[in-house]
Amino acid sequence: MIKAMVHRIREVLIFSFVALFCKANGGTTADWWATRPPDPSASYCLSWRLAVEANNLRGWRTVPTQCLGYIETYMIGGQYFRDLRLIADQILSYANEIVPAGDGLDAWIFDVDDTCISNILYYRDKRYGCDPYDPVAFKAWATKAGCTAIPSVLRVYNKLIESGFKIILITGRDEETMGPATIDNLNDQGFVDYERLIMRTAAYKGQSAVKYKSEIRKQLVEEGYRIWGNVGDQWSDLQGEYLGNRTFKLPNPMYFVP
Ligand SMILES: [Mg+2]
Repeated sequence: MIKAMVHRIREVLIFSFVALFCKANGGTTADWWATRPPDPSASYCLSWRLAVEANNLRGWRTVPTQCLGYIETYMIGGQYFRDLRLIADQILSYANEIVPAGDGLDAWIFDVDDTCISNILYYRDKRYGCDPYDPVAFKAWATKAGCTAIPSVLRVYNKLIESGFKIILITGRDEETMGPATIDNLNDQGFVDYERLIMRTAAYKGQSAVKYKSEIRKQLVEEGYRIWGNVGDQWSDLQGEYLGNRTFKLPNPMYFVP
């Protein structure tokens, strides 16, 4: 009891001191806290992940090494899947308000990697993104067709098809080298009955994801498709042109695709 009181008094004294200090320096208490050194265990990594998800941090190449444990816990400790479940519920409540016209042109766009199927097993060996991107190793992994379905996204995918929407998958994966493995992997994991799977062909080689995916969506709109929703784990899936009525950003703190 006495110990708790002493602790509380100490807290009040510290807070009062900080408030006085800030007032004297023309700032606020919140400003002062923001200048404190980050707690290397979790609070800095939470700020880092939030900045990534909000697209305030761009062009980053690797996860900060000090956040390895934090990102691992986020990805496999349950929070990542809880976040996905909440987004999936939002997608479905939005989709429930739409009445498809029945002409086969009501479309939803989905990205593939870490949207439909997961690369967590691959990134586990890459220290959840603390290691730099390794295109050769990723290609070898992708051609094994061992990605697992992301359950919340599969649930949304099936419900949308059931409701009469057409699913169009757009991926930056190279069609020539990864086409057959990607088709097998999607089928094995339950992603069937899609309208189209569009992969990157030689014509789009070297283009940024924003440019390539915008061009594909433009072609779809010109074909008459109405894009009701667009789902991806990268901001580059959801930026550019012909984005669709609503975009849904899935979490991915492991890598950044420009
Ligand atoms: Mg992706």
